[in-house]
Amino acid sequence: MSIKALCAAVALVTCVVAARADDRIEIFDAHMHYNWEPKPYYQPDEVLEVFKRNRVTGILATSRPNTGTHVLMDKQADGKASGLQVVPFIRPYRIRADIGSWFNDSVIFDLVQDEYKRGYYRGVGEFHLTGKAADTEMVKKTVDFAVEKNLYLHAHADAEAVEILMRHNPKAQIIWAHTGFSLGPDRVAAMLQKYPKLWGELSYRSGIVDGSGKLTPEWRKLFETYPDRFLVGSDTWVPERWASYDDIMAGYRAWLAQLPPVIAKKIAHGNARALFAEK
Ligand SMILES: [Zn+2]
Repeated sequence: MSIKALCAAVALVTCVVAARADDRIEIFDAHMHYNWEPKPYYQPDEVLEVFKRNRVTGILATSRPNTGTHVLMDKQADGKASGLQVVPFIRPYRIRADIGSWFNDSVIFDLVQDEYKRGYYRGVGEFHLTGKAADTEMVKKTVDFAVEKNLYLHAHADAEAVEILMRHNPKAQIIWAHTGFSLGPDRVAAMLQKYPKLWGELSYRSGIVDGSGKLTPEWRKLFETYPDRFLVGSDTWVPERWASYDDIMAGYRAWLAQLPPVIAKKIAHGNARALFAEK
């Protein structure tokens, strides 16, 4: 092959590869922790590269403490995060141990109010609640604050705790981290039916695919019945999740490809974009 022909062939391959890369469905990562303690797993530019490499064009951004989120917001303000929508949520944790006590800790409620003054937040979370742990004055105050300020809640909670959150203030808007983990699909459907302002985020959610990677009939039905109510996320709560970020996103794309494209696009990014459209 002549040099000229070789160059033409290389250009063609490059062109095909680029077209293929662009064909991947855009993903909005609706459960991203860029934790700052004990130390960030990636430097800010590295984490932006991870999103770009995976065609992640939006993130629900949280960090423990909130420093990592500030850094990402600064990057966005400086134009260094082009092609990425950063949607910041207030994390009510300074250190990991706050997971087990925040719901009874007035200092945390002060933290949430202080952090809100930055002016750019769209939600509070992710926070953790199991059952009646949600039934405290601090949690009620947090839910009321979120409703008053038109903030979403990002709740890692069982069904009982979600019900209590909704009882605290029926106007609450809740992104349900992990969608109940292994809660039966019929129970998930009942929750979505009962609460129109509840959206299910699907990291660590079992039952979506079978052992061979095929969408299960129950979950296909859920997605087809409630196409506007699901989101996907990485849940980078530990370094291992960052290390496997590419695989997590490929895993989502594998089952999204089995859905009608209009539904797949909603779950991959459309629903998140609708929720977090500019106010
Ligand atoms: Zn999480």
